Amino acid sequence: VLTTAASKILNNFVPPYSATVVERLELQDAIVIAKANLDEFGMGSSNENSAFGAASNAWSTEHVAGGSSGGSAVAVATGVAPLALGTDTGGSVRQPAAYNGIIGFKPTYGRLSRFGVIAYASSLDQVGVMARSSEDIALAMDVMAGHDPQDSTSVVDDTPQFSAALTDASLNDASLQGMKIGFIEELCGDGNSEGTISAIEKTKAQLKELGAEVVNVSLPNIKYAISSYYLIAPAEASSNLARYDGMIYGNRQGEDALGQAESMMLTRGEGFGPEVKRRILTGSYALSAGYYDAYYGKALKVRRLIADEFAKAFETVDVLLSPTTPSPAFKMGEKSDDPLAAYLVDIDTVAANLVGVGGMSIPAGKADDDLPCGMQFLAPVMKDERLVQVAQALQSNMGEDFSPLAKTW
Ligand code: GLN
Repeated sequence: VLTTAASKILNNFVPPYSATVVERLELQDAIVIAKANLDEFGMGSSNENSAFGAASNAWSTEHVAGGSSGGSAVAVATGVAPLALGTDTGGSVRQPAAYNGIIGFKPTYGRLSRFGVIAYASSLDQVGVMARSSEDIALAMDVMAGHDPQDSTSVVDDTPQFSAALTDASLNDASLQGMKIGFIEELCGDGNSEGTISAIEKTKAQLKELGAEVVNVSLPNIKYAISSYYLIAPAEASSNLARYDGMIYGNRQGEDALGQAESMMLTRGEGFGPEVKRRILTGSYALSAGYYDAYYGKALKVRRLIADEFAKAFETVDVLLSPTTPSPAFKMGEKSDDPLAAYLVDIDTVAANLVGVGGMSIPAGKADDDLPCGMQFLAPVMKDERLVQVAQALQSNMGEDFSPLAKTW
Protein backbone atom coordinates (compact mmCIF):
# COMPACT_ATOMS: atom_id res chain seq x y z
CA VAL A 1 0.00 0.00 0.00
CA LEU A 2 1.27 3.46 -0.88
CA THR A 3 3.14 4.68 2.21
CA THR A 4 4.19 8.30 2.08
CA ALA A 5 4.68 9.41 5.72
CA ALA A 6 2.78 12.46 4.35
CA SER A 7 5.98 13.55 2.61
CA LYS A 8 6.54 14.55 -0.99
CA ILE A 9 9.80 12.65 -0.88
CA LEU A 10 7.91 9.34 -0.59
CA ASN A 11 4.93 10.28 -2.76
CA ASN A 12 5.28 7.14 -4.88
CA PHE A 13 6.68 4.71 -2.33
CA VAL A 14 5.09 1.29 -2.07
CA PRO A 15 6.94 -0.73 0.58
CA PRO A 16 7.81 -4.34 -0.24
CA TYR A 17 6.58 -5.59 3.16
CA SER A 18 3.98 -4.79 5.80
CA ALA A 19 4.19 -3.99 9.53
CA THR A 20 3.94 -6.69 12.19
CA VAL A 21 1.18 -4.86 14.07
CA VAL A 22 -0.93 -4.59 10.92
CA GLU A 23 -0.30 -8.21 9.96
CA ARG A 24 -1.33 -9.38 13.42
CA LEU A 25 -4.59 -7.40 13.18
CA GLU A 26 -5.28 -8.77 9.71
CA LEU A 27 -4.62 -12.31 10.91
CA GLN A 28 -7.57 -11.81 13.25
CA ASP A 29 -9.74 -10.61 10.35
CA ALA A 30 -9.39 -6.89 10.91
CA ILE A 31 -10.15 -4.95 7.73
CA VAL A 32 -7.67 -2.21 6.96
CA ILE A 33 -9.56 0.54 5.14
CA ALA A 34 -7.07 3.36 4.74
CA LYS A 35 -3.87 5.15 5.61
CA ALA A 36 -4.72 8.31 7.52
CA ASN A 37 -3.13 11.74 7.34
CA LEU A 38 -0.24 12.81 9.57
CA ASP A 39 2.35 15.51 9.97
CA GLU A 40 5.25 14.76 7.64
CA PHE A 41 7.35 11.94 9.14
CA GLY A 42 5.43 12.39 12.41
CA MET A 43 6.89 15.84 13.00
CA GLY A 44 4.21 18.13 14.28
CA SER A 45 1.35 18.55 16.68
CA SER A 46 -1.43 19.78 14.41
CA ASN A 47 -1.48 17.81 11.12
CA GLU A 48 -0.63 21.04 9.31
CA ASN A 49 2.82 19.76 8.35
CA SER A 50 1.38 17.13 6.01
CA ALA A 51 2.44 17.53 2.37
CA PHE A 52 -1.19 16.75 1.50
CA GLY A 53 -2.80 19.46 3.64
CA ALA A 54 -4.25 19.19 7.12
CA ALA A 55 -7.18 17.15 8.42
CA SER A 56 -9.39 19.35 10.54
CA ASN A 57 -10.66 18.65 14.04
CA ALA A 58 -13.63 16.29 14.28
CA TRP A 59 -15.57 18.87 16.29
CA SER A 60 -14.68 22.06 14.44
CA THR A 61 -13.30 22.59 10.96
CA GLU A 62 -11.61 25.80 12.16
CA HIS A 63 -9.47 23.91 14.65
CA VAL A 64 -6.55 21.56 14.15
CA ALA A 65 -6.92 17.79 14.36
CA GLY A 66 -3.73 17.56 16.41
CA GLY A 67 -0.74 15.55 15.46
CA SER A 68 1.01 13.97 14.23
CA SER A 69 -1.59 11.19 13.89
CA GLY A 70 -4.49 13.63 13.44
CA GLY A 71 -6.05 11.74 10.53
CA SER A 72 -6.28 8.56 12.63
CA ALA A 73 -7.90 10.44 15.51
CA VAL A 74 -10.51 12.11 13.30
CA ALA A 75 -11.36 8.79 11.64
CA VAL A 76 -12.05 7.21 15.02
CA ALA A 77 -13.85 10.22 16.51
CA THR A 78 -16.22 10.47 13.55
CA GLY A 79 -16.99 6.76 13.54
CA VAL A 80 -15.28 6.05 10.21
CA ALA A 81 -13.29 3.31 11.95
CA PRO A 82 -13.47 1.80 15.43
CA LEU A 83 -9.69 1.58 15.68
CA ALA A 84 -6.69 3.39 14.28
CA LEU A 85 -2.95 3.14 14.73
CA GLY A 86 -0.30 5.80 14.88
CA THR A 87 3.21 6.18 16.17
CA ASP A 88 3.80 8.12 19.34
CA THR A 89 7.29 9.61 19.55
CA GLY A 90 6.39 12.55 21.76
CA GLY A 91 2.60 12.42 21.98
CA SER A 92 1.38 11.80 18.43
CA VAL A 93 -1.25 9.29 19.50
CA ARG A 94 -2.29 10.79 22.87
CA GLN A 95 -2.46 14.43 21.79
CA PRO A 96 -4.73 14.08 18.72
CA ALA A 97 -6.87 11.65 20.74
CA ALA A 98 -7.33 14.37 23.38
CA TYR A 99 -8.13 17.01 20.76
CA ASN A 100 -10.83 14.81 19.21
CA GLY A 101 -12.39 13.31 22.32
CA ILE A 102 -11.27 9.67 22.07
CA ILE A 103 -8.82 7.33 23.83
CA GLY A 104 -5.20 7.34 22.68
CA PHE A 105 -2.82 4.78 24.12
CA LYS A 106 0.96 4.61 23.87
CA PRO A 107 2.16 1.40 25.51
CA THR A 108 5.53 0.94 27.22
CA TYR A 109 8.49 1.38 24.83
CA GLY A 110 9.09 -1.95 23.13
CA ARG A 111 5.69 -3.40 23.87
CA LEU A 112 4.49 -3.26 20.25
CA SER A 113 6.68 -4.24 17.36
CA ARG A 114 7.95 -1.41 15.18
CA PHE A 115 8.88 -3.70 12.32
CA GLY A 116 7.55 -2.06 9.18
CA VAL A 117 7.07 1.32 10.83
CA ILE A 118 8.87 4.33 9.35
CA ALA A 119 11.39 5.56 11.95
CA TYR A 120 11.37 9.09 13.32
CA ALA A 121 13.38 8.96 16.59
CA SER A 122 14.15 5.37 17.40
CA SER A 123 14.76 5.66 21.14
CA LEU A 124 11.32 7.28 21.52
CA ASP A 125 9.10 5.75 18.81
CA GLN A 126 6.30 3.44 19.88
CA VAL A 127 3.19 2.30 18.06
CA GLY A 128 -0.02 3.44 19.71
CA VAL A 129 -3.70 2.76 19.28
CA MET A 130 -6.81 4.94 19.26
CA ALA A 131 -10.39 3.88 19.95
CA ARG A 132 -13.64 5.08 21.46
CA SER A 133 -13.73 2.53 24.28
CA SER A 134 -11.32 0.81 26.64
CA GLU A 135 -12.64 -2.56 25.40
CA ASP A 136 -11.52 -1.83 21.83
CA ILE A 137 -8.10 -0.71 23.04
CA ALA A 138 -7.74 -3.92 25.05
CA LEU A 139 -8.83 -6.13 22.15
CA ALA A 140 -6.38 -4.49 19.77
CA MET A 141 -3.56 -4.78 22.29
CA ASP A 142 -4.26 -8.47 22.88
CA VAL A 143 -3.91 -9.05 19.16
CA MET A 144 -0.87 -6.86 18.51
CA ALA A 145 1.32 -7.27 21.62
CA GLY A 146 3.95 -9.95 22.10
CA HIS A 147 7.57 -10.32 21.14
CA ASP A 148 8.54 -9.89 17.50
CA PRO A 149 11.96 -11.31 16.59
CA GLN A 150 12.07 -8.84 13.69
CA ASP A 151 12.28 -5.86 16.06
CA SER A 152 15.28 -5.97 18.40
CA THR A 153 13.63 -3.44 20.76
CA SER A 154 10.49 -5.53 21.10
CA VAL A 155 10.25 -6.76 24.70
CA VAL A 156 10.22 -10.43 25.59
CA ASP A 157 7.75 -10.97 28.38
CA ASP A 158 4.61 -12.75 29.39
CA THR A 159 2.32 -10.37 27.61
CA PRO A 160 -0.56 -9.56 29.92
CA GLN A 161 -4.01 -10.10 28.53
CA PHE A 162 -5.42 -6.62 28.31
CA SER A 163 -8.99 -7.85 27.97
CA ALA A 164 -8.52 -10.03 31.01
CA ALA A 165 -7.41 -6.99 32.99
CA LEU A 166 -10.78 -5.43 32.24
CA THR A 167 -12.68 -8.28 33.79
CA ASP A 168 -10.38 -8.48 36.80
CA ALA A 169 -12.67 -9.36 39.72
CA SER A 170 -11.59 -6.43 41.85
CA LEU A 171 -12.54 -4.04 39.09
CA ASN A 172 -15.72 -5.49 37.72
CA ASP A 173 -17.78 -2.81 39.39
CA ALA A 174 -15.63 -0.27 37.58
CA SER A 175 -14.17 0.83 40.88
CA LEU A 176 -10.67 2.12 41.40
CA GLN A 177 -10.67 1.10 45.06
CA GLY A 178 -7.13 0.91 46.36
CA MET A 179 -5.51 2.62 43.40
CA LYS A 180 -3.18 5.47 44.29
CA ILE A 181 -3.07 8.23 41.69
CA GLY A 182 -0.48 11.03 41.70
CA PHE A 183 -1.22 14.39 40.11
CA ILE A 184 1.94 15.82 38.58
CA GLU A 185 2.02 19.24 40.25
CA GLU A 186 4.27 20.82 37.65
CA LEU A 187 1.81 20.00 34.84
CA CYS A 188 -1.50 20.63 36.59
CA GLY A 189 -1.28 24.32 37.47
CA ASP A 190 -0.40 27.57 35.69
CA GLY A 191 -0.06 27.36 31.95
CA ASN A 192 -3.24 25.33 31.51
CA SER A 193 -6.36 26.89 30.04
CA GLU A 194 -9.33 27.61 32.29
CA GLY A 195 -11.34 24.76 30.78
CA THR A 196 -8.44 22.36 31.27
CA ILE A 197 -8.07 23.35 34.93
CA SER A 198 -11.74 22.66 35.59
CA ALA A 199 -11.43 19.33 33.75
CA ILE A 200 -8.52 18.44 36.06
CA GLU A 201 -10.65 19.26 39.11
CA LYS A 202 -13.58 17.30 37.75
CA THR A 203 -11.37 14.27 37.06
CA LYS A 204 -9.92 14.49 40.57
CA ALA A 205 -13.43 14.36 42.03
CA GLN A 206 -14.45 11.47 39.76
CA LEU A 207 -11.40 9.44 40.70
CA LYS A 208 -12.12 9.92 44.39
CA GLU A 209 -15.72 8.90 43.84
CA LEU A 210 -14.45 5.72 42.19
CA GLY A 211 -12.46 4.92 45.32
CA ALA A 212 -8.99 5.99 44.22
CA GLU A 213 -6.65 7.77 46.55
CA VAL A 214 -5.51 11.01 44.97
CA VAL A 215 -2.24 12.69 45.97
CA ASN A 216 0.02 15.39 44.56
CA VAL A 217 3.43 14.37 43.24
CA SER A 218 6.30 16.65 42.30
CA LEU A 219 8.63 15.88 39.38
CA PRO A 220 10.89 18.96 39.48
CA ASN A 221 12.88 18.16 36.34
CA ILE A 222 9.85 17.52 34.13
CA LYS A 223 9.98 21.18 33.13
CA TYR A 224 13.08 20.34 31.11
CA ALA A 225 11.40 17.46 29.25
CA ILE A 226 10.40 19.56 26.27
CA SER A 227 13.92 21.01 25.78
CA SER A 228 15.47 17.59 26.13
CA TYR A 229 12.96 16.04 23.71
CA TYR A 230 13.43 18.73 21.07
CA LEU A 231 17.17 17.99 21.03
CA ILE A 232 17.01 14.19 21.18
CA ALA A 233 14.16 13.70 18.68
CA PRO A 234 15.64 15.93 15.92
CA ALA A 235 19.11 14.45 16.54
CA GLU A 236 17.82 10.93 15.95
CA ALA A 237 15.63 12.10 13.07
CA SER A 238 18.59 13.69 11.31
CA SER A 239 20.20 10.27 11.27
CA ASN A 240 17.06 8.25 10.44
CA LEU A 241 16.10 10.54 7.56
CA ALA A 242 19.55 10.38 5.95
CA ARG A 243 18.32 7.40 3.92
CA TYR A 244 15.94 9.57 1.88
CA ASP A 245 18.47 10.77 -0.64
CA GLY A 246 16.92 9.59 -3.89
CA MET A 247 19.32 6.67 -4.24
CA ILE A 248 17.41 3.78 -2.65
CA TYR A 249 14.64 5.71 -0.86
CA GLY A 250 13.04 8.91 -1.99
CA ASN A 251 11.65 10.37 -5.15
CA ARG A 252 14.89 11.09 -7.10
CA GLN A 253 15.35 14.55 -8.58
CA GLY A 254 17.97 15.83 -11.05
CA GLU A 255 19.10 12.45 -12.27
CA ASP A 256 19.79 13.55 -15.85
CA ALA A 257 22.77 15.84 -15.97
CA LEU A 258 23.91 16.24 -12.41
CA GLY A 259 26.23 14.17 -10.26
CA GLN A 260 25.16 12.13 -7.27
CA ALA A 261 25.75 14.87 -4.69
CA GLU A 262 23.67 17.40 -6.61
CA SER A 263 20.95 14.85 -7.17
CA MET A 264 20.82 14.12 -3.44
CA MET A 265 20.64 17.81 -2.60
CA LEU A 266 17.86 18.42 -5.09
CA THR A 267 15.97 15.35 -3.91
CA ARG A 268 16.10 16.42 -0.26
CA GLY A 269 15.61 20.09 -1.04
CA GLU A 270 12.44 19.46 -2.99
CA GLY A 271 11.17 16.43 -1.14
CA PHE A 272 11.19 17.56 2.50
CA GLY A 273 8.83 20.16 3.90
CA PRO A 274 10.02 23.13 6.01
CA GLU A 275 9.46 21.55 9.44
CA VAL A 276 11.33 18.38 8.49
CA LYS A 277 14.23 20.50 7.21
CA ARG A 278 14.23 22.49 10.44
CA ARG A 279 14.49 19.29 12.47
CA ILE A 280 17.27 17.85 10.31
CA LEU A 281 19.21 21.10 10.69
CA THR A 282 18.77 21.43 14.46
CA GLY A 283 19.40 17.71 14.95
CA SER A 284 22.59 17.71 12.90
CA TYR A 285 23.75 20.84 14.72
CA ALA A 286 23.14 19.27 18.14
CA LEU A 287 25.20 16.23 17.11
CA SER A 288 28.08 18.08 15.51
CA ALA A 289 31.59 18.04 16.93
CA GLY A 290 32.01 20.85 19.43
CA TYR A 291 28.30 21.05 20.26
CA TYR A 292 27.58 17.39 21.02
CA ASP A 293 28.32 17.58 24.76
CA ALA A 294 26.62 20.92 25.25
CA TYR A 295 23.37 19.94 23.55
CA TYR A 296 22.81 16.27 22.80
CA GLY A 297 24.91 15.02 25.74
CA LYS A 298 23.16 17.40 28.13
CA ALA A 299 19.74 16.38 26.85
CA LEU A 300 20.57 12.72 27.55
CA LYS A 301 21.57 13.58 31.12
CA VAL A 302 18.29 15.42 31.67
CA ARG A 303 16.46 12.41 30.26
CA ARG A 304 18.14 10.22 32.88
CA LEU A 305 17.18 12.62 35.70
CA ILE A 306 13.53 12.64 34.60
CA ALA A 307 13.52 8.84 34.39
CA ASP A 308 14.88 8.64 37.95
CA GLU A 309 12.15 10.99 39.17
CA PHE A 310 9.46 8.85 37.54
CA ALA A 311 10.91 5.69 39.09
CA LYS A 312 10.86 7.34 42.50
CA ALA A 313 7.29 8.59 42.07
CA PHE A 314 6.11 5.12 41.08
CA GLU A 315 7.45 3.79 44.40
CA THR A 316 4.52 5.58 46.04
CA VAL A 317 1.76 5.81 43.41
CA ASP A 318 0.25 3.34 40.93
CA VAL A 319 -0.34 5.82 38.13
CA LEU A 320 0.49 9.45 37.45
CA LEU A 321 -1.87 12.00 36.00
CA SER A 322 -1.72 15.30 34.12
CA PRO A 323 -3.76 16.86 31.36
CA THR A 324 -2.80 15.52 27.92
CA THR A 325 -2.44 19.06 26.58
CA PRO A 326 -2.48 22.49 28.24
CA SER A 327 -5.59 23.49 26.27
CA PRO A 328 -7.96 22.01 23.67
CA ALA A 329 -7.22 22.17 19.93
CA PHE A 330 -5.93 25.51 18.67
CA LYS A 331 -7.07 27.30 15.53
CA MET A 332 -5.67 26.29 12.14
CA GLY A 333 -2.71 28.52 11.29
CA GLU A 334 -2.46 29.94 14.82
CA LYS A 335 1.01 28.55 15.50
CA SER A 336 2.29 28.23 11.95
CA ASP A 337 4.77 31.10 12.24
CA ASP A 338 6.07 30.15 15.65
CA PRO A 339 7.68 26.70 15.85
CA LEU A 340 8.54 27.10 19.53
CA ALA A 341 4.91 27.78 20.42
CA ALA A 342 3.96 24.69 18.42
CA TYR A 343 6.53 22.58 20.31
CA LEU A 344 5.16 23.72 23.68
CA VAL A 345 1.85 22.00 22.96
CA ASP A 346 3.75 18.76 23.68
CA ILE A 347 4.69 19.79 27.21
CA ASP A 348 2.59 17.09 28.88
CA THR A 349 3.25 14.19 26.55
CA VAL A 350 7.00 14.02 25.76
CA ALA A 351 8.17 12.82 29.18
CA ALA A 352 6.49 9.41 28.74
CA ASN A 353 8.58 8.84 25.61
CA LEU A 354 11.81 10.06 27.21
CA VAL A 355 11.22 7.68 30.11
CA GLY A 356 9.66 4.82 28.11
CA VAL A 357 6.53 4.41 30.24
CA GLY A 358 3.05 3.77 28.90
CA GLY A 359 0.60 6.65 28.67
CA MET A 360 -3.05 6.99 27.83
CA SER A 361 -5.20 9.99 27.05
CA ILE A 362 -8.74 9.53 28.30
CA PRO A 363 -11.54 11.91 27.29
CA ALA A 364 -12.42 14.36 30.06
CA GLY A 365 -15.42 16.09 28.55
CA LYS A 366 -15.44 19.53 26.97
CA ALA A 367 -13.13 22.39 27.89
CA ASP A 368 -12.70 25.84 26.34
CA ASP A 369 -14.55 26.69 23.10
CA ASP A 370 -16.75 23.63 23.59
CA LEU A 371 -13.89 21.44 22.37
CA PRO A 372 -12.88 18.11 23.92
CA CYS A 373 -9.95 17.72 26.26
CA GLY A 374 -8.13 14.68 27.60
CA MET A 375 -6.50 13.56 30.82
CA GLN A 376 -3.23 11.66 30.55
CA PHE A 377 -2.54 8.70 32.81
CA LEU A 378 0.97 7.22 33.00
CA ALA A 379 1.85 3.80 34.40
CA PRO A 380 5.19 2.23 35.34
CA VAL A 381 7.07 0.31 32.65
CA MET A 382 5.17 -2.85 31.64
CA LYS A 383 2.17 -1.99 33.83
CA ASP A 384 0.16 -0.76 30.85
CA GLU A 385 -2.94 -2.73 31.76
CA ARG A 386 -3.53 -0.35 34.68
CA LEU A 387 -4.28 2.36 32.14
CA VAL A 388 -6.97 0.29 30.45
CA GLN A 389 -8.51 -0.31 33.85
CA VAL A 390 -8.58 3.41 34.63
CA ALA A 391 -10.16 4.12 31.24
CA GLN A 392 -12.83 1.53 31.85
CA ALA A 393 -13.69 2.88 35.28
CA LEU A 394 -13.88 6.45 34.03
CA GLN A 395 -15.85 5.64 30.92
CA SER A 396 -18.58 3.89 32.87
CA ASN A 397 -18.89 6.96 35.05
CA MET A 398 -18.56 9.78 32.60
CA GLY A 399 -21.69 9.15 30.60
CA GLU A 400 -22.43 11.52 27.75
CA ASP A 401 -19.31 13.56 28.30
CA PHE A 402 -17.11 10.60 27.56
CA SER A 403 -18.43 9.55 24.21
CA PRO A 404 -17.51 11.53 21.12
CA LEU A 405 -20.43 9.81 19.45
CA ALA A 406 -22.72 11.73 21.79
CA LYS A 407 -22.40 14.21 18.95
CA THR A 408 -24.53 13.32 15.95
CA TRP A 409 -22.54 13.52 12.75
N1 GLN B 1 4.69 16.68 18.28
C1 GLN B 1 5.87 15.93 18.54
C2 GLN B 1 6.90 16.21 17.47
O1 GLN B 1 6.63 16.95 16.60
C3 GLN B 1 5.58 14.46 18.64
C4 GLN B 1 5.27 13.84 17.34
C5 GLN B 1 5.17 12.34 17.41
O2 GLN B 1 4.90 11.77 18.47
N2 GLN B 1 5.44 11.71 16.29
O3 GLN B 1 7.98 15.71 17.49
